[in-house]
Amino acid sequence: MTHIAIVGAGPAGLLAADRLAGAGHAVTIFDRMPSPGRKFLMAGRGGLNLTHAEPLERFLSRYPDLPEALEKAIRVFSPDDTRDFAAELGQRTYIGTSGRVFPEAMKASPMLRAWLSRLEAKGVTLKLRHDWQGWDEAGALLFTTPSGPVSVMADATLLTLGGASWPRLGADGGWAKLLAAKGVDVAPLIASNAGVLCDWSAKMRERAGEPLKRTDFAIGSRGVIGEAVVTEKGIEGGAIYALSAHIREALAQGPVTLMLDFRPDLTPSALLGRLAEGRKGDSLANRLRKGAGLSAVQVSLLHEAAFREGQKLAEEGPQGLARRIKRVPVPITGMAGLERAISTAGGVRFDALTQDFMLKALPGTFVAGEMLDWDAPTGGYLLQATFATGNAAAEGMLRWLKAR
Ligand SMILES: Cc1cc2nc3c(=O)[nH]c(=O)nc-3n(C[C@H](O)[C@H](O)[C@H](O)COP(=O)(O)OP(=O)(O)OC[C@H]3O[C@@H](n4cnc5c(N)ncnc54)[C@H](O)[C@@H]3O)c2cc1C
Repeated sequence: MTHIAIVGAGPAGLLAADRLAGAGHAVTIFDRMPSPGRKFLMAGRGGLNLTHAEPLERFLSRYPDLPEALEKAIRVFSPDDTRDFAAELGQRTYIGTSGRVFPEAMKASPMLRAWLSRLEAKGVTLKLRHDWQGWDEAGALLFTTPSGPVSVMADATLLTLGGASWPRLGADGGWAKLLAAKGVDVAPLIASNAGVLCDWSAKMRERAGEPLKRTDFAIGSRGVIGEAVVTEKGIEGGAIYALSAHIREALAQGPVTLMLDFRPDLTPSALLGRLAEGRKGDSLANRLRKGAGLSAVQVSLLHEAAFREGQKLAEEGPQGLARRIKRVPVPITGMAGLERAISTAGGVRFDALTQDFMLKALPGTFVAGEMLDWDAPTGGYLLQATFATGNAAAEGMLRWLKAR
């Protein structure tokens, strides 16, 4: 019997294990954490956006510089296959208004439980608290475990160690130097779908945790209407993640100011009408909250912007206020780091792989998931690429084992 080691019990490793065990191989999954799929469970806190229902060509266009191997992998394991796979695990999915696909349960734990039971039924062994350290001289995988070092000789190995974001969930990108030392070309790991940093006043910091709803966030000519949250150090959330690649690029050229429109649904004259409607003697706060429908955090941002220009909002008439509400400048000082980024760009370059997702420098060792060098926005594209490459690497490994 062929012994396959999978290192990394995230969605890429678990999907590949299903395929490999289904083909009759003895599969052992190792993970350094005390329980599997921690980032997958964290993704479940936001409802678990599994994939997206838009037409496949548009779906594929969402990946910047889409690598050919990833395109092939997604065509083979498509968003429909993701939905079918979830259904096999007892999770019916639905399409949200934006086209994003979620399990009806809106969390990851029932799917993960069913997935692990299915793997157990297929004879897959799960070894936790096994921290992979590389290889010994004989080519065996080396782990540190609570009961001491362990070495494992496998017929084939799949590395699904994830990116480097949210390292407390297990994936910290430590594998990059182990692979680079073996001659594998790894693109630097950088934060993707990350928040931005702002130099907030003490007053703004008090607003941390408050949402900016239905706001138009723009950088240059690119705008996204959506939601974000003010944090202690800046702003994070879906709308910012969607712009994060552009913001990162712009920051490399010089200072960046994000332009916010708090009422993208109203024309300037409609907004002016609402502000002018208020009764005489209405306080500024009332005009902004009741007249313009702004939240407390939006009002704070307006004050902050006026203050930076040496102006006071209280001295503005309806026209000045309307103009400000439609163009609120927020200077950005940098991007939030990997600790809080949703995903990681960079990783093992596709050129370092054979068509079967095997490392050219390490025959018999395959790679899948977020540790590969692809990038994607949020919207289900991250998990879809993770599932698709997990499937492709498993199929590649099956072909390689057969040919051997
Ligand atoms: C807050 C948050 C929300 C998200 N929400 C979504 C979403 O809604 N939709 C979406 O598409 N994507 C989402 N993502 C991204 C998605 O979760 C990841 O893209 C996906 O989990 C990547 O899967 P993976 O299997 O490649 O890696 P991971 O899930 O990171 O798994 C890698 C595993 O490898 C293990 N490991 C790492 N190094 C070692 C080592 N040296 N030894 C042993 N084990 C090791 C880790 O412990 C981990 O279990 C979210 C991410 C975050 C952080």
